Amino acid sequence: HSVRKLNFGAGPAQLPYELLENVKDEFLNYHGAGANIMELSHRSSTFAKVIQDAEQDIREILSIPESYAVLFLQGGATAQFSAIPLHFLNLKPSQTADYLVTGYWSEKAAKEAEKFGKVNWVVPKGSKYQGVPAEASWKLSADPSYFYYCANETIHGIEVDDIPAIIPKDVPIVCDMSSNFLTRPFDITKFSVVFASAQKNFGISGVVLVIIRKDLVEKNTNKSIPLILEYKIQIDNGSMYNTPPTFAIYIASKMFAWIKQQGGLKAINEGADKKSSLVYQTIEQSNGFYVNFVEKKYRSRTNIPFRIVTNGVPDEKLETLFIKEAIQSNMIELKGHRAVGGIRVSLYNGISVKEATQLVNFMRTFQTNNS
Ligand code: PMP
Repeated sequence: HSVRKLNFGAGPAQLPYELLENVKDEFLNYHGAGANIMELSHRSSTFAKVIQDAEQDIREILSIPESYAVLFLQGGATAQFSAIPLHFLNLKPSQTADYLVTGYWSEKAAKEAEKFGKVNWVVPKGSKYQGVPAEASWKLSADPSYFYYCANETIHGIEVDDIPAIIPKDVPIVCDMSSNFLTRPFDITKFSVVFASAQKNFGISGVVLVIIRKDLVEKNTNKSIPLILEYKIQIDNGSMYNTPPTFAIYIASKMFAWIKQQGGLKAINEGADKKSSLVYQTIEQSNGFYVNFVEKKYRSRTNIPFRIVTNGVPDEKLETLFIKEAIQSNMIELKGHRAVGGIRVSLYNGISVKEATQLVNFMRTFQTNNS
């Protein structure tokens, strides 16, 4: 695919080539409609089928029971930072939510929730975000309205594989899975709310998927929630209270079908293991040339930040050269987030094992030439 570059960006991310080809085929005339799907009414039977298929596929991929609603909403994951406390902060008499802050995105969510009520920071503020403090040091509330955490911190490269065992079984769990959603299987019935923006692992920006326990939505007593953020209204209207992001939902439906074709989350999970192991092995075998600062247990499989180190300190000049030479080798979007600097490799579902191999080959050659 000679015109295409290899995109390791943190999102919006690269999509599978065959999916783009398929979208191109349907671009002027979607299934004989004589229009692109983005030009058709969201009330048309053509679009109704797209969103129904999308919901059916994601329910199948994750075995989502009927007791959960699947919503395709707007405002990104960021809108959920507000919608969640607005609905659930006062669910219990404690009127407090527990937030496990492990990086930039959970910190943002906790600060947003503080606008609406009491937030208990489970681990002390001001951490360097290089892992997750030991559970023994956590300060949990007696009976919190919910427990919130981010399964994968996109900027700091910290992933929490599973629900922390320390959380009592009856506490509703809310999870931001934006950057590792659909990279591994998980049991949705252990969660009350899971949300994820599409532009990393299942499509393009414009849509955020929210999977939510219907009974919890019924328990909401806050009458002052802005219309557009209200779960009940969106559930009652099949995510179409107002005009939904039709093209983004169409792309998500194609990604769900693609994931099924790959062999579902089992196969995707194996691929994610392979891709991330390639990069982490290259870092580990570099004799300290490449350094990732995250505690091993919490290393992210989808976002791998690292520094290039010479004489014990990060070498910004060499990092700039790395990014420049990567571009010359057709690999783009490798610059780390400004909050942490250095390099960041994102390995979402649109990146293949072969492409990750191409990157580590480049990393090895770069090290040989510059040390
Ligand atoms: N949470 C996480 C973990 C993210 O990575 C991002 C985006 N990078 C967001 C939330 C915010 O998502 P959005 O830009 O779609 O609002």
